[in-house]
Amino acid sequence: MEYIKKAELSFEEVSDQKRVIVEGILKDIEARGEEAVRELAKKFDNWEGDFILSEEKKQALIAQVPQRVKDDLQFAYDQVFGFAKAQRESIVEFEKETLEGVRLGQKVIPMEVAGCYVPGGRFAHACSAIMSVATAKAAGVKTVVACSPPRGESIAPAVVYAMELAGADIIIEMGGVQAIATMAFGLFSGKPANILVGPGNAFVAEAKAILAGTGRCAIDVFAGPTESSVIADKTADPMTVAIDLVSQAEHGLDSPVWLHTDCRELAEKVNELMPKVIADMPDPDTPATSWRDFGEIVLCEDREEVAKVSDQYASEHVQVMAEDLDWWTQRLTNYGSLFLGEGSTVPQGDKCSGTNHILPTKKAGYMSGGLNVHKFLKIMTYQEIKPEANKVVSGAASRLSRVEGMEGHARACDWRLRKFFPNEEWD
Ligand code: NAD
Repeated sequence: MEYIKKAELSFEEVSDQKRVIVEGILKDIEARGEEAVRELAKKFDNWEGDFILSEEKKQALIAQVPQRVKDDLQFAYDQVFGFAKAQRESIVEFEKETLEGVRLGQKVIPMEVAGCYVPGGRFAHACSAIMSVATAKAAGVKTVVACSPPRGESIAPAVVYAMELAGADIIIEMGGVQAIATMAFGLFSGKPANILVGPGNAFVAEAKAILAGTGRCAIDVFAGPTESSVIADKTADPMTVAIDLVSQAEHGLDSPVWLHTDCRELAEKVNELMPKVIADMPDPDTPATSWRDFGEIVLCEDREEVAKVSDQYASEHVQVMAEDLDWWTQRLTNYGSLFLGEGSTVPQGDKCSGTNHILPTKKAGYMSGGLNVHKFLKIMTYQEIKPEANKVVSGAASRLSRVEGMEGHARACDWRLRKFFPNEEWD
């Protein structure tokens, strides 16, 4: 393995430093509640207005959204909600008699309240509102609280429209760590979230992770600053690769993009093209900096090594522009979402193709996929052990309880054995 271009900074170290800042902010909110939140909203977003979006203001904002934008958001909603509904149907309730007189079952119960964070610092991420809110609703979540940072006088109108379209019940004009804490603690709305979902910058992602660690609520996944990689072989078009890498480097200064290839000629060509494609962007500084600081081109021996390296990076998005797409689909195991073939590009999934764009970053792809309908569902089990089945189940449970030194447990089982089978001997 050889670096044709190596990152100058470690993006993991850069985001780790933010955790300390976030811990301090969360402690302050825990101690002072809504008062602290008001101060933080003023400090970080220069916001002093109401937080809960009124019906009147919501309708006025929605009226500003051009019909074409509404139509495109409707298309995105239909795809994302449809895919989420199919996911919901893939998980079923069932009951099974596993032994004579032993009835075991599984129920699927949606969480009551979801807090959906919709990022809005650098861009107005309208499609992100659909990704989280529509998926929560497809799962059957009763109350969805959605937060997004105000940009000027309000949340961007297209974001408000997307939240409304997807079914948000309460909209809060707030961003950052204070918004995450507001949803977790139920500040202003009186509805503490059972789960916090949605992407965000490193502050937002760290806040979700810290709150999940307290056991207060669940989270979808560590969905921080966007990462993207392209796997390409000799058949790939270098310009398409460079354009796709730059498209993802525009997310922010801390968004890494990587090329993994087994073709030296392609690696060198893409390395040459990157500065040119970046220079042609309307805001070249952001992709230029993220490419300089975090961008990498890794040249591998063969496709097996490319796959191994790609799995080590576990990038949020992995695009494959190589022969034998089925081999790659079978072989790759760590990533947020896969984009197969030259016709597929991350922005399609990001906006409207139907899969969710809230995806694992910082190697969270080692243990989780992205947001999906199952994250909002509780798989609950139940059982009925008929008296006659106690002979088998309580006998074993009693003996196993004593192996573990749990006499009270053993006696609960022994009691049943003597009660249901009074004429038998039990050791
Ligand atoms: P954001 O809404 O995530 O963050 C903006 C908020 O950050 C502001 O409201 C402010 O309150 C807070 N903030 C800003 N500076 C701060 C500081 N110094 N200390 C504490 N809080 C501060 O919007 P953004 O900043 O534009 O970031 C969006 C992020 O979402 C990007 O990093 C993008 O890559 C990422 N993203 C990730 C995914 C995913 O699935 N992983 C998907 C889409 C977007």
